[in-house]
Amino acid sequence: MITGTTQLLGVIGHPIAHSLSPVMHNAAIAALGADFAYLPFPIAPEHLQTALDGFAAIGLHGFSVTIPHKQAIMPMLTEIAEVAQAIGAVNTVCRTEQGWYGTNTDAAGFLAPLQQIDRDWSQTAAVILGNGGAARAVVAACAQLGCRSIQVVGRNPEKLQEFQQSWQHSSFAENLSVRNWSDLPQLLPEANLLVNTTPIGMHPHDQASPLTATEVQQISADTIAYDLIYTPRPTLFLQQAASQGAMILDGLEMLVQQGAVALELWLKQPVSADVMRHALLEYLDRKHSAI
Ligand code: NAP
Repeated sequence: MITGTTQLLGVIGHPIAHSLSPVMHNAAIAALGADFAYLPFPIAPEHLQTALDGFAAIGLHGFSVTIPHKQAIMPMLTEIAEVAQAIGAVNTVCRTEQGWYGTNTDAAGFLAPLQQIDRDWSQTAAVILGNGGAARAVVAACAQLGCRSIQVVGRNPEKLQEFQQSWQHSSFAENLSVRNWSDLPQLLPEANLLVNTTPIGMHPHDQASPLTATEVQQISADTIAYDLIYTPRPTLFLQQAASQGAMILDGLEMLVQQGAVALELWLKQPVSADVMRHALLEYLDRKHSAI
């Protein structure tokens, strides 16, 4: 129940109507009976500072940040966690006595399902397809796991160089190298953890895969194939990897777990990822059956 004491949380983005965060956060808040409510805030880029001032004025407790504000908000915050600085983006903001503290929970969300798997991560060669925003969180996560090598594969040599340079002074990327897409035939047989961070295969392009049929054959049975995409479930990439005997993980758990980590920061108590996952799956099911 929303009462006079209810504290406000939310998500800022532009657009924001597609966001799944209100569904899963409000479900977890209700399950706990916590005195919070989580709302979507559509904030145009030119209104970001005004919105932040307004949030301070009304005592907003904390908020999630999505496109296009993840980088733009950084200079407006009082403190930024090391992981968010390394990734170069903030997705979670908490109000503090000094002002606003920004962090990034995507790496923790990506890691959560991997941490359930019994592996010697120090022997793991990670191959990451794509060099965009999500790839940055995956690099930080693979560094936290202690992977033996982290190879980021991209199609644009200039962007790849920029990507590598941006990590130069970061402790998160000691084992990082960048590779061209044409190097995949050498990289795939050695990959223990193969991550798709490109949007290739995302609904409605369900029949697309980042790998050719020949490349798929090079995935070995002890590979973990991880796709950040969560619609469709599974993607063609994951179906192909499973046909090679690989273990597969999709992006839904990352989405749920990054949200759970954020909500725990705001509420300062454990939250149920199960409730959040259930709410999300139910919502996605309802949405798809309505199409
Ligand atoms: P982004 O910043 O736009 O990066 C996309 C990357 O994919 C870029 O490196 C791009 O290469 C590459 N790419 C796109 N099309 C390609 C193609 N045909 N061939 C080769 N490379 C291609 O996007 P993002 O924010 O990183 O998001 C990427 C995906 O991750 C999306 O599907 C998103 O939904 C998903 N995601 C999921 C979660 C989760 O919680 N599960 C979180 C974040 C993101 P260029 O730079 O050369 O264009």
